[in-house]
Formats: sequence, structure tokens, C-alpha cells
Amino acid sequence: MKINPPEYICRLKPYVAGKPIEELEREYGIKNAVKLASNENPFGPSPKALKACEEFLKVVHRYPDSSGHDLISKISEKFNLKKERIILGNGSDDIISLVVKAYVKAGDRVVIPDPGFLMYEISSLSEGADIVKVPLKNCEIDLEKMGKEAKKGAGVVFITNPNNPTGSYIRKEALIDFLKAVPKKTIVVVDEAYMEFADIKYNSWDLIDEYKNVISTRTFSKAYGLAGLRLGYGVMDEEVAGILNRVRQPFNTSIPSQVAGIAALDDDEFLARVVELVAQEKVRLYKELENLGLKPYKTDANFILIDVKRSADEVYEKLLYKGVITRSLSSYGYPEALRVSIGLRSENQLFLDSLKEVIKK
Ligand SMILES: *Cc1c(COP(=O)(O)O)cnc(C)c1O
Repeated sequence: MKINPPEYICRLKPYVAGKPIEELEREYGIKNAVKLASNENPFGPSPKALKACEEFLKVVHRYPDSSGHDLISKISEKFNLKKERIILGNGSDDIISLVVKAYVKAGDRVVIPDPGFLMYEISSLSEGADIVKVPLKNCEIDLEKMGKEAKKGAGVVFITNPNNPTGSYIRKEALIDFLKAVPKKTIVVVDEAYMEFADIKYNSWDLIDEYKNVISTRTFSKAYGLAGLRLGYGVMDEEVAGILNRVRQPFNTSIPSQVAGIAALDDDEFLARVVELVAQEKVRLYKELENLGLKPYKTDANFILIDVKRSADEVYEKLLYKGVITRSLSSYGYPEALRVSIGLRSENQLFLDSLKEVIKK
């Protein structure tokens, strides 16, 4: 006998992550492969975070502090936020899914950009929501269209700033105009996973006093270099936070991730160095890619979307043989777009040299 889950669960497609280095090396018999597929921090974790993490491994026979008191206090101090407005997550993916769990029921509409970060879709479909995909316009999130769709009725709208996979950026004034257009009872998630890399940084959570439907999400996975620990947080109106706290798993962040988060927030020097090096490499990559006759889109994140002017799947595959893992966006409806994370100088150089050979043929 077959046991069937709900129909909306059957429609889910599993998330496809960037290929791990070990897998490439095993399958292709390659050594010293580089991964520029998941926008990870190429400089590793902050040494301070690493030290804190190691120190606290001794006490992992204990449950973590379910309230995340110390880390929440740190975030609160650092960004001058009320503690009651902060929710920790097992990565910001966790916050995304908490929002949908709390505010969306089967049949509700959820508005997302297309292409966009897959977790919005996966989390929403898991609750049986109707997904409304709004295509990007000139590789940017079409706020006007998304606002119109929200007006027709929606539980949640997701926007990403800077955007993944295009790297486009929403200015604060444009975000405010958007918030004015969205009904007050629709939750607006502003996913700021890459905000630390933006040329002009701002905190969308400054708008919460006026727009109680805003939830800003941040992660330790990118600029802070802690992707493997799984740590993120959301900032929102305290009443909304109270709701999310009801559906949150009590121990959704671990002891090592909590203490690493605190130490990482204390390591301003590390963060500044990462952001500076990424910015330097970005300028170099733009120039070199243009020299190759390709079109890199302007990005405010730590990755670049490139119009490779030929099959991105083929370029992706050929780069794999050279030990460079990137992302093709063909399955997202962009057959000639390749996304590459900005890595160490040597990694970027290997990417450029390999790409040059790949497109020559
Ligand atoms: C990487 C990324 C995240 C971060 O996810 P975590 O669960 O915090 O690792 C969130 N949103 C977008 C758009 C991302 O690209």
C-alpha cells in the first residue's frame, strides 16, 4: 500500500545545492578544485569565531540556551535594536520557513521574484501556498509588479536585497515606496543575506516602527563566513516576533553557532577586510570579463551574474572539467547566464583563465 502525502508536497522539487568540492574531485578525478557556486566566504571564518566555537565544544552535552539570550543581546547592542524584535534561526532559511509557517495557510498567495532564492518557493509550497512568481525586469526585482500582486491579496511577499542571483540592489527610497503600496496585513520579508557587501548599506529594520509588516533577515553564512554552522536572524515588530517564537523549534541554534555569532559580531576588522577584498576583486573581475567580450551585470553582492553569450550549461560543464564550480541559471529560464561567487584572488584567476579557454573553442 502506498501512503500519499498531500498533493502540494508531491509537487515540491528538492533544493539543488552547489556541487561540493569533494564530489567534483571524486567524480572528475580532479585535484585542487575551487567552488565558486554558493557565495561562501573564501577567507574562512573569523578566527575569533573559530576560537569561541572550539572553546564551547566542551559543553555540547548540554542543550543550548533556547532563548539565545547572549547572542540576541549582542545583536541588540550592536545594531541598537530591541531584544524583543530579534529571532534567531538555523540559518536565515529557518526564519524564512518560520514566517511562512506562521503567516501562510494552504491556498494563500505568496509573491516571490522569479528567478529568485529557492527557499521562498520550497517553504511556501510546503504549507500548500499558491506561489505567484513575478519575473525580474532588466535583471532587477520588479517592485511595481510585486506590489500589484500583493494588493490582490497575499500572505507574504519576499524580496531580496541585494538580489540573488542577479546582484541587483534596491535603494531605501524604492523600498519605502514599495512598502507604501503593499497592504499592511501582508508580511514583507526583506532578505538581506548580502547587505554587508552593498556599496550603500542600510538596515530595512529601521522601517519597522512605521511598517509593522516588515521582517528583515540577515545571515552569518556569507560575509561572516559561518555557513557550515547555520546561523541567521530576523528583525521584526515585537508582536510578529512573538508569533514566530511560537512556531520556532526551541533549540534551533546550537551552542557553537551562538558563541561563534557573538565573536563574529565582535570581529569588525575581519568583516571589513572581507568586504574590502571582495570589492577589489569585483572590480578586477568586471574588467577581465568585459575584456573577454562577456557581460557581467552590476552587483552589490559577493557574486557576479554573467551573460556568457552561449549555453551557460555548456560553459558550466566545461569549467567543471577544469576544476571550477560555478552555477548555470539555465534551469531558472536564463540559458546564457552563469553565476560565479567572488573568491580568493587565486581562485578568481583560475576561473578567468579556465573561462578564457572554454569560450575560445
Ligand atoms: C545564502 C542566502 C541566504 C542565507 O541562507 P542561510 O540559511 O542563512 O545560510 C538567504 N537568502 C539568500 C537570497 C541567500 O542567497
